[in-house]
Amino acid sequence: MNDQGIEFQIIHEYFEKNAFYDHSVALGIGDDCAIINPTDNSQQVISVDTSLADRHFPADADAFDIAYRSLNVSLSDLAAMGADGKWFTLAITLPDFNKSWLQQFSQGLFTAAKNAEVQLIGGDTTKGPLSITVQVQGEIPMGQALKRSGAQLGDYIYVSGNLGDAGAGLTIYQQQKQQQNKTDTELLTAYLKPEPQLQLGNKLRNIASSCIDISDGLLADLGHILQASQVGAEIDLNTIPLSTALLNFTNRANALSYALTAGDDYKLCFTSAQEPEQLSSTQSDIDSVYCIGRITDKKELILTNQPENLQLTQVGFDHFS
Ligand code: ADP
Ligand code: MG
Repeated sequence: MNDQGIEFQIIHEYFEKNAFYDHSVALGIGDDCAIINPTDNSQQVISVDTSLADRHFPADADAFDIAYRSLNVSLSDLAAMGADGKWFTLAITLPDFNKSWLQQFSQGLFTAAKNAEVQLIGGDTTKGPLSITVQVQGEIPMGQALKRSGAQLGDYIYVSGNLGDAGAGLTIYQQQKQQQNKTDTELLTAYLKPEPQLQLGNKLRNIASSCIDISDGLLADLGHILQASQVGAEIDLNTIPLSTALLNFTNRANALSYALTAGDDYKLCFTSAQEPEQLSSTQSDIDSVYCIGRITDKKELILTNQPENLQLTQVGFDHFS
C-alpha cells in the first residue's frame, strides 16, 4: 500500500486481531520476525504456495472461499508429508482497500486456521493485482515424514476419497459465471473449499511407504511417486472412487477423465505394503480409503478397464503448458 497507515490498519484489523497462539509461539505478528519454539526431536516441515486470481481461483469468488482455499491447499502439502500443521505466514497483495472483502477474507482464513489448529505468525501486505502466498510450517517426529520416494514393488496404491469432483466443480463455476445463485453445490464446494487431510496424513506415518496430495490430477501426481520411487504401477479404472454427484453431472468416461487429469481434489494418494483389510482393521483405524492398484517394476503406468470412450487429453495440470 502507498499509505502506511492503511497497511497497518489492515494488518491489525483483519489479521493480528484474530490471531491465536499457543506456547509454541514466543513472538507472533508485530515485530520484524516471528519466533517459534519447535518441539524436541521433531523435524520442521515447510512449504509455500501462491494462489493467483483467475489462475488458481476465480477472482470473483467469495473472499471467504478464497482465503479458506488458499490456506487449505498449502496445508494439504503438510498432510501429504504426514506432518501436523503448526504455524503459517501470509503474503497478500490487494488491488484496493475493501473492508467488507477483507472482513470475509479474514473470516475464511481463520475458519480454516482453527480447523487445522495452525497459527498465523506473520506476513506481508502490499498493493497490486490480487495474489495470496501462504507459507505453512508443521512438525513431524524425527524421521517419520512421508516422502514421494518410498514406494516398493508390490505395494498397494490408495486414494483417500472421491476424485474428479473439484474438476467438475470448476467447469460448473465457469458455466454459471453470470448466475448469482449457483447450483450443484456439492461439486462446487469440492472445488472452492478443499479440505486438507491432516488427520489421515498423521495416521499414515507408520503405514504409508510414500504419499502425495492430488493437486494436479491422479495421473500426474501418482506419476511423481513413480518417478521418485523408480517404480511403475497398474491401476484398475473400475476401482477409482467417483461420487454420485459427479456421475449425475456427466457420463462415466468424462467422470474418469476428471478424476484422472483435472486436479484440485486435494485427496491423498499413498502406497503401503498393507492390504485393504489390514488398513481398515481397528489397529490402524483408517477408513474411507480406496485401493486402486499395485506398484510394479515395469517403470510405466498401466490403466486397465479403460472405457472405450475415455479420452485423456492431458496427463494433469502443468502451469507452463
Ligand atoms: P517489516 O517492515 O518488518 O517487513 P511489516 O510492516 O511488513 O514488517 O509488517 C509488520 C508486522 O505485521 C510483521 O510482524 C509482519 O509479519 C506482520 N504482517 C504483515 N502483513 C501481514 C499479514 N498479511 N498477515 C499477518 N501478518 C502480517
Ligand atoms: Mg513487510
